[in-house]
Amino acid sequence: MRIVIIGGTAAGMSAAAKAKRLAPEDEVIVYEKGEVISFGACGLPYYIGGFFDDPQQMIARQKTDFEKKGIKIFLNQEATAVDPDRKEVTILDRESGKENKVAYDRLMIASGARPLSLRALASEAANVFVCKTYDDGVKIRKFLEQKKPQKAVVIGGGFIGIEILEGLKHRGLETTLIELTDQVLGVSFDREMTELFEKELRQGGVDLHLSEKVLGYREEGGRAVAVKTDQGEYACDMVITATGVVPNTEFLPQSFERLENGALHVNRRGETNLENIYAAGDCASVYQRITGDDVYIPLATYANKMGRIVGENLAGVKNEYEGALGSTGVKVLSLEAGKTGLTAAECEKLDIPYKAVVIKDKNQTDYYPNQEDIWGKILYDPQTKVIIGAQIVGKNGALLRADVMAAAIAKKMTTDELGFLDLIYAPPFSRTWEFLNVLGNVAK
Ligand SMILES: Cc1cc2nc3c(=O)[nH]c(=O)nc-3n(C[C@H](O)[C@H](O)[C@H](O)COP(=O)(O)OP(=O)(O)OC[C@H]3O[C@@H](n4cnc5c(N)ncnc54)[C@H](O)[C@@H]3O)c2cc1C
Repeated sequence: MRIVIIGGTAAGMSAAAKAKRLAPEDEVIVYEKGEVISFGACGLPYYIGGFFDDPQQMIARQKTDFEKKGIKIFLNQEATAVDPDRKEVTILDRESGKENKVAYDRLMIASGARPLSLRALASEAANVFVCKTYDDGVKIRKFLEQKKPQKAVVIGGGFIGIEILEGLKHRGLETTLIELTDQVLGVSFDREMTELFEKELRQGGVDLHLSEKVLGYREEGGRAVAVKTDQGEYACDMVITATGVVPNTEFLPQSFERLENGALHVNRRGETNLENIYAAGDCASVYQRITGDDVYIPLATYANKMGRIVGENLAGVKNEYEGALGSTGVKVLSLEAGKTGLTAAECEKLDIPYKAVVIKDKNQTDYYPNQEDIWGKILYDPQTKVIIGAQIVGKNGALLRADVMAAAIAKKMTTDELGFLDLIYAPPFSRTWEFLNVLGNVAK
């Protein structure tokens, strides 16, 4: 049995490792178009921000580690076509320019996504960057160290834009953030929370512009010297764009079922609509366990989990993913923000009935040093009181309370059950009634 995997990052390498472990006699071959494998892009904002210095720390496992397990890995090899009838992949050797065809018994597509390049944002200027690959990170860091820019403009106020902003501020740069919509992080948090983020960013010295559309750059001598929007111009020494991603699926035939954005539609085993072809990660859909829909959530956590599930299925073990809750977290300067399940905006869009409460409380006893504010929002079914969403914002471990909520939602806990859940009380960490108990008890 020959298993061929296209793409050697989170989803692809998780699948390769699992498949080889379960079916050591099968041939497992990975074709990666770049020069690195097993790279965690999640470290990029912190690498460019100077939190650590060795970019190799973003590589989870080296090529040789996989080769020792018997997995064959070919770098600089790009899949340019797939023929599902002949069960063949066309592979382009990017060094020699030669193409050859490789037969498979089972195929996995793990080609990920690339930054969405809006026409207005594209530029050849040497100081305009995207931040997705290992090379992007090395290039940005080199620019920061050699050119010592003072002013940076980040375009896009989603998770990646906010994380990059933290990195740049850590280096002492003056930062401007431009966001098209009227909220930062509006995809994952409701307005009660996004207003806290906006206040935090402004108090932290970020020049924040909401509801502004970038039209392009003013360039001089091959460099962008200002970002032009529909409302003004912002001087810059560098620009990083973070406006979303698009799945890398254009090289595949039309016979694949896709979501609207081009992501491959897969079931809970990661199977596409074509026989013996699987997909996972940023190039594919993922099953949402509350709504039962197949949705697009380009996060490493799903690339790894679905990659592993696909690995099992490639090896002949039928296993299904229980489903995603859309759990995500981010640091907004000094605030920790975690979200799991559905937001109010999502419920309204999907016509899902819900009730919601928002509370502000304290994270711990007042007599122990460093008591902080903490905010929470909980969404639940008005009839059954089963919890369907939660958002927690605060400091000192606030984000991990969202993880507790993920467990509660996954197990269909009601607000009453949350109110009396046996959570820890210890003065340095909580109050007698832990914040999440309070959140459950106020949700009537
Ligand atoms: C700056 C940043 C921060 C992030 N932070 C977080 C975070 O905190 N938490 C989180 O959960 N997620 C985070 N993510 C998202 C996470 O990195 C992605 O979800 C994850 O990398 C997806 O893995 P993947 O294997 O599906 O795809 P990718 O990482 O996109 O990898 C796909 C691989 O396939 C290769 N490839 C593409 N086309 C072909 C082809 N035709 N032939 C051969 N090879 C091909 C590519 O070169 C690439 O190596 C972050 C992303 C970025 C950019």
